[in-house]
Amino acid sequence: MALHKGSCHCGKVAFEVETDLSQVIECNCSICRKKGYMLTFAPRTALKVTGEENLSTYTFNTHTIRHRFCASCGTATFGEGQQPGGEPMAAINVRCLDDVDLSNVKAMPFNGRDR
Ligand SMILES: [Zn+2]
Repeated sequence: MALHKGSCHCGKVAFEVETDLSQVIECNCSICRKKGYMLTFAPRTALKVTGEENLSTYTFNTHTIRHRFCASCGTATFGEGQQPGGEPMAAINVRCLDDVDLSNVKAMPFNGRDR
């Protein structure tokens, strides 16, 4: 686990998250492919957000995942959902972590489209 810092493009939203980057996925579901998400998961309690009032929320289908994005610049920073047991989770867009060299991140394909 490491503490990573992330932000949206315009900087109105910033966040810190305690997570590790050994299990990053690139999913082929309808929203991930269009947004270009690279995701890592963390308990929602491990994510601290500054400027949260600048975030908008998009939901679709079963509306169980809250896709948060900056209302100013549109950057999709993370999503919020729940584990099957009810524990609040965050799906962090690794592309928004400013201290991560993406060429060093090995993302595993995830077949979300057919689930
Ligand atoms: Zn922004």
